[in-house]
Amino acid sequence: MTQRPDLLAPFLTRALDKRAEVGLRRTLRPAALLPGGRIARDRRTCIDFSSNDYLGLAQHPLLVDRAREWAARLGAGSGASRLVTGTHEAVLELEARIAAFKGTEAALILGSGWQANAAVIPALLAAMPGAEVFADRLNHNSMHTGCAAAGVRQHRFAHNDLDALDALLARHADAPARLILTESVFSMDGDRADLVRLAQIARARDAVLYVDEAHATGVLGPGGAGLASIVPGGVDIAMGTFSKALGSFGAYVAGSRLLVDWLINACGGFIYATALPPAVLGAIDAALDLVPRMDAERAKLAALGDRLRRGLTGAGYDVAGSTTQIVPAIVGDAALTMALADRLAEAGMIAGAIRPPTVPAGTSRLRIALRSTHEEADIDALVAAIGPKA
Ligand SMILES: *Cc1c(COP(=O)(O)O)cnc(C)c1O
Repeated sequence: MTQRPDLLAPFLTRALDKRAEVGLRRTLRPAALLPGGRIARDRRTCIDFSSNDYLGLAQHPLLVDRAREWAARLGAGSGASRLVTGTHEAVLELEARIAAFKGTEAALILGSGWQANAAVIPALLAAMPGAEVFADRLNHNSMHTGCAAAGVRQHRFAHNDLDALDALLARHADAPARLILTESVFSMDGDRADLVRLAQIARARDAVLYVDEAHATGVLGPGGAGLASIVPGGVDIAMGTFSKALGSFGAYVAGSRLLVDWLINACGGFIYATALPPAVLGAIDAALDLVPRMDAERAKLAALGDRLRRGLTGAGYDVAGSTTQIVPAIVGDAALTMALADRLAEAGMIAGAIRPPTVPAGTSRLRIALRSTHEEADIDALVAAIGPKA
């Protein structure tokens, strides 16, 4: 048999080489999450500051048992899209629980947070012809993908600059509709949007407000319901993931019954995707049992964040506007950031080195993600290992 020529290889090699030249080639390395804020990496146990398992639920026995139980009862897979095969009662019950958790009329489960943003935004815009889209400059990649899929140009405003947003909205007052996209807790800076004021501006300017609660769900707001819960009257659309503080996988969109009805009819990422498998749904169900009662863990997480910010600021680091369990230590230069992350790994601590294009040029950083299962000694060891800013 003759070998088929690999026509793809030269293209991929060239594209990867280009990444390597600017020091941005990424690779995967073996690792496994452990309880107690730890991770197994390179055959040793390290303190993990890189995962988003903020409440330590990814290893929680109740989630693992419930996942096993649902799989045993309902099977390993869900068979097809819910529109084709039908939808299991258990899923509808779970969605009702999510809506109650979020304080909304309805909720819809989607495959992942990335998929939700990429698919829900174009579905919304399909119902809002001619809409202008206003987006925080630091919004997650998945929201950009959603806008790109919808074929709209975003008006991007400076991060959390609500005056700038208000001015932009005023300038587009004649548009047939306006949609604002933001995160409630920003994934790379760990700061919050002022959702109460944002919602006031949205209402005054007749704009629909879409909030990504990926990093707030489980961690902030009453019972960990997220920050949309503290907005009087709520927001129009809140989405979030089950993959971070809720410890497993999948995403939700919460809002009105009408919103969910439209998504069932128009959201490609729902219509053409297979429903989540029972094991994952079981883990979500268990997380919803636990999370509202985890105020002690949330308070501990907040206190650990304060301690880390004090330590880093004392060492001369800018921590952006962080007020949450995500704390950046801004290094600036990409190569220096990588070197610092490598030095930490040698010392047995793993924190993400985040470089452009994930963050703006010149703001390369360590992204330190805390867990309620960390201890004060872990924070102090991290600050000591980072050392004073050069
Ligand atoms: C992680 C993240 C997502 C994607 O969620 P997944 O469930 O991991 O796909 C979406 N938005 C933001 C802000 C995120 O940080």
